[in-house]
Parts: sequence; C-alpha cells; structure tokens
Amino acid sequence: MLIVMDKAASPEELAAVVERIEKYGWQAKPIPGGERTAIGVLRNKGPVDPALFLDMPGVRDVIPVSKPYKLVSREMHPENTIVELGQNDKALRIGDGSLILMAGPCAVESESQALEIAHAVKEAGATIFRGGAFKPRSSPYSFQGLGVKGLEILAKVREETGLYIVTEATDHEVLDIVEEYTDIIQIGTRNMQNYRLLRRAGQAKKPVLLKRGMWATMDEFLMAAEYIMSEGNNQVMLCERGIRTFTRHSRNTLDINAIPYMRQESHLPIVVDPSHAAGRRDQVIPLARAAAATGVDALIVEVHNHPEKAMSDGPQSLYPEQFSKLVEGLKNMNIPL
Ligand code: PEP
Ligand code: MN
Repeated sequence: MLIVMDKAASPEELAAVVERIEKYGWQAKPIPGGERTAIGVLRNKGPVDPALFLDMPGVRDVIPVSKPYKLVSREMHPENTIVELGQNDKALRIGDGSLILMAGPCAVESESQALEIAHAVKEAGATIFRGGAFKPRSSPYSFQGLGVKGLEILAKVREETGLYIVTEATDHEVLDIVEEYTDIIQIGTRNMQNYRLLRRAGQAKKPVLLKRGMWATMDEFLMAAEYIMSEGNNQVMLCERGIRTFTRHSRNTLDINAIPYMRQESHLPIVVDPSHAAGRRDQVIPLARAAAATGVDALIVEVHNHPEKAMSDGPQSLYPEQFSKLVEGLKNMNIPL
C-alpha cells in the first residue's frame, strides 16, 4: 500500500499518517519524491483498507501495491534511483542516464597487477575498479583471494588512480571488513539468497551491487534486493550476470529479457556483467554492446593484463586493448558515457 501525500502536505500531516500506520503495528516508510512525498505501508499481513487513510488531511491518494516486493518496486517509487559515490558536484552518479564502466580483474593478485590494470581501464574510460579480495571458488583448492591484503591493494588503487572500488563480501565476517575499505559492496550470485547476509548488507553505509543468483527467477532476485532495502539501505544496484541454461556455447546465458523487465518493475539502477555470462572472451564485447543498447546503467567487465596467467577467470577476461576497443565501440553507438 502506498499513501500519496498532497504536494502542499505539512510535516505534521505526514507525521500523523506515519503515526496511524504504526498504531496498526505496520511499518511506515516515507519516500520523498521530486513532486510529492509518498508513504509506503510495510509489514502488513493482509490487505489494508484505504479508508483508514483517505480521510486524513494532506492525503491525496491511496494506491494498493500488487507486487510482493515493495521498496524495490516502481509502483512504490516511480522515479529512478540514483546511486551516488563520492560527494558534492564531483559525485559519480549511477542511474542518471549515462553508462558507467566498472572494470578490473576477477581477483586482485598483486599490487603491480592491480595497479597496471587500473591505470589501463581508467585510461579507457572506466570510473570504478573491480577486483575480488575474497573469492567464492567452486573448488576449495583454487585461489581464494588475497584477503585483507587484497583490500589494502584496492585502497592503494583508489588512492593512486582516483577510481572507485567494488569488491565482494562473501560472508558476514568479510562484510564487516570489506565495508571499511570499499566504495561498493558486491554480493555474488552464490549469496543472492543468503538472507542474513542480505540483511547485513542492508545495514551497511555503502551502496550494494547485488548479483542475480544463477538460478534465480526475477521475483526471487527482486525479493533479495527487498531484503537489503528493508534494512534501510536504499542504494542498491541490480546486476544481471547470466543464468544457467542448457547451452554449451557459453558459461551462462545473459538474460537480456531481464533488463527491460527490471526497468519496468524496479527503480533501481541496472548493471550487466557480460564476463560471467559469457565465460569466454570472444563473447564479452558483443554481450556488452547488446546490454548497452538496452540502456543499462553500468557494465562490470573483467579485464586482465595477462589473462593467460590469471589466477581466476582468465578465459573470460579481456586484454586491456580489447577493453579500450569496447569503449570506443560504445562511443560509436552513441551510448552516453
Ligand atoms: C565476480 O564478480 O568475480 C563473481 C564471482 O561474480 P558472480 O558472483 O556473478 O559469479
Ligand atoms: Mn570472475
């Protein structure tokens, strides 16, 4: 349920509506908009009678929200959310109509590796550096990431290049540390339904890049984002990274259909990861271009200076020159970067 206030509603009228919602044991979530404020009603078990609010001063309309996800839904929040990194007029805005480029290796392997790649992707036009310090690997014998040392390297990358950082938090303990170092907390595909971790991410003071579970339906994905938002963190990005299908010509299948669907259902910025969708270098650029053509807000692309020696995901990592070519191609498509 969404209670839409009059443009001229006073703070006292707003407070009275909030008080009435809470009197019934529900949660009130004011959503300030450019034009007017709306108040979401959450945690109601059954339908809410609109008549309870329609007669209150300052109330313009009461709209039922039909979806199971509320805070995430465009029904409840018609305007696009913009995720901001940094402050004041220099802030980087994700979701304002331009395409933001996040790029870097799958895993941080050393300071020189990270810095070399960071300088190259920055030169090409990226503004956010990706790199895992804690890696969720299918095999316990594979490289698990440099851990805190990797986070220190990421901090150095930010200091030296001015790039913002996105890195994954694989569990609660890691999230506590990652939150201190990073600009964006990544929740990976394998953790999309780790509800306690999602709640913890919702309490963080940093934006969250939520990757779609490789088997998740759209409802499950959007409900996962709802978990984060329900704890008070409104800075959430939805990342399509490919889902498992029967194909053998790629690691996963980029669900292009999901992009317009997410745009319609949610106000949150949309990010596409063509690298994990493809799993092979030759498909990354075409998928990135396809995603950009649908008007996504950001791409997150794996780039490595020596992919053949990479400690994870080398076969899908672009060479820095290929990343530059990708960016040139996007410019030729008139994508606003
Ligand atoms: C990654 O971004 O390196 C990663 C592990 O992604 P995903 O969770 O989508 O597999
Ligand atoms: Mn990877």
